[in-house]
Amino acid sequence: MKRVAPAPYTADLHAHSTCSDGALSPTALVELAARRGVRHLALTDHDTVQGIAEARDVGRRRGVQIIAALELSVWEERELHVLGYYVDPDHPALRENLQDYRTARTRRVHDICERLAELGVHLDAEQVLASAAGNPGRPHIAHLLVKGGHVRSFDEAFQRYLGNGKPACVPSARLSAADGIALIHAAGGVAVLAHPGVEGAEGHLDALVAHGLDGLECSHPAHDAATTRRLRGVAETRGLVATGGSDFHRSERGSAPGSHGVEPVILARLHARRRAA
Ligand SMILES: [Zn+2]
Ligand SMILES: [Zn+2]
Repeated sequence: MKRVAPAPYTADLHAHSTCSDGALSPTALVELAARRGVRHLALTDHDTVQGIAEARDVGRRRGVQIIAALELSVWEERELHVLGYYVDPDHPALRENLQDYRTARTRRVHDICERLAELGVHLDAEQVLASAAGNPGRPHIAHLLVKGGHVRSFDEAFQRYLGNGKPACVPSARLSAADGIALIHAAGGVAVLAHPGVEGAEGHLDALVAHGLDGLECSHPAHDAATTRRLRGVAETRGLVATGGSDFHRSERGSAPGSHGVEPVILARLHARRRAA
């Protein structure tokens, strides 16, 4: 049997499944996390909480505590990602808003394919939708662009076409940052800015804090050690909980579950920030 290197962190607060743009089902994700020694895992699919029940079932059997969470796309002059932890997946307003996102994501795939066509790149939107088990998103499109030989790599697909501000980027945010954070709070959760070191997201921190942001994702595979250290200082100064996670999507690319994360003590700190729902 293949030996699995233990994860440096037993609490990983950022991971995706096939319910959004990850490669593993919630079951396979939790199994992998368990094998790597992760004991607390937040399932943070984009704009959906659909995988939570399945992840919890497996988590119970494998000794992994599943934190009900999501990565919500919101708008604050540009698209930002806000992680919501400890949300009630059955909260009516949350369900209703996420259903809206789902409908919009399908439309967005068509919009992106139209923009690509204007750029001379022809991709069938129906093929993209068929390739996505969960919420269709830019990674599904990027994979097909690589497969079709339009770009050499996944990263090139984002750099040339799909990244924020690139010619075929269509935002998926349906809610303003203020409304998104309020929705997470209403559903009993706490709101954390995801990967603030990526594409200048940190520049919007003043506004987000004014909207009631609870935490800052300091440890993330896209942050180097100096950035992580600096962000922890920012979190401390602003009274935000410093969190972290692997942002795991697939084994072939990026970081493994538990490779970035937090000490379990941070969970208590996050949990304590919950508003009375
Ligand atoms: Zn993100
Ligand atoms: Zn993510």
